[in-house]
Amino acid sequence: MTPWPTKHLTADDLDAFHSEALSSEMRLHLETCEECRRLVLLDRQVLDLLAQVPSYGPSAAFADRVMAGVRIGSPAPVPVLSFPRFTKRRIAAMVGLAAGMVASVGWSAANRPLLESWLDGSAAALWDWGTVLWQNGLTYLAAQPWFESLRSASGSPVRLAAVGALTIGLYATGLLTLRRLVTPSAGSVSNAGA
Ligand SMILES: [Zn+2]
Repeated sequence: MTPWPTKHLTADDLDAFHSEALSSEMRLHLETCEECRRLVLLDRQVLDLLAQVPSYGPSAAFADRVMAGVRIGSPAPVPVLSFPRFTKRRIAAMVGLAAGMVASVGWSAANRPLLESWLDGSAAALWDWGTVLWQNGLTYLAAQPWFESLRSASGSPVRLAAVGALTIGLYATGLLTLRRLVTPSAGSVSNAGA
């Protein structure tokens, strides 16, 4: 009997087989699948060969040789305050900025009435623009087919409460789903060997 669809042993299944933790489903598959039996034998051979490889640990003097090459400098004082180095370009930029600010303040003081008339004009223009945008938005919203049904629904407190509860429920479900998605899997990770 071959389970359908045919699912051959994966690398994890091979690890599970060697640590005698193979699932009964895959154990059953192994009994019927010549291909997977061959794979298990080859894998066993690889593991046996790996076990014969001598392990190369560092010699006793290795750490000393590494540390002999490491130069540890004496501790340097850390300045409490640090400033960027004053290069010619930085000084020129700072002088230019300061000159611009002084000129701006001077001009504003000398031309106060003109400046105030500009500010009044721009504030009024901004207010007009905002009003037109708000009115257009309301008109657009009222013209939508769903607007009337929403308005009649919000007229009844019970229905409004139901819609509110539904919204909160959807939000909570979304939060829970997100939490589930970002929580790492608690499953064990199998390793070759055993
Ligand atoms: Zn197979």
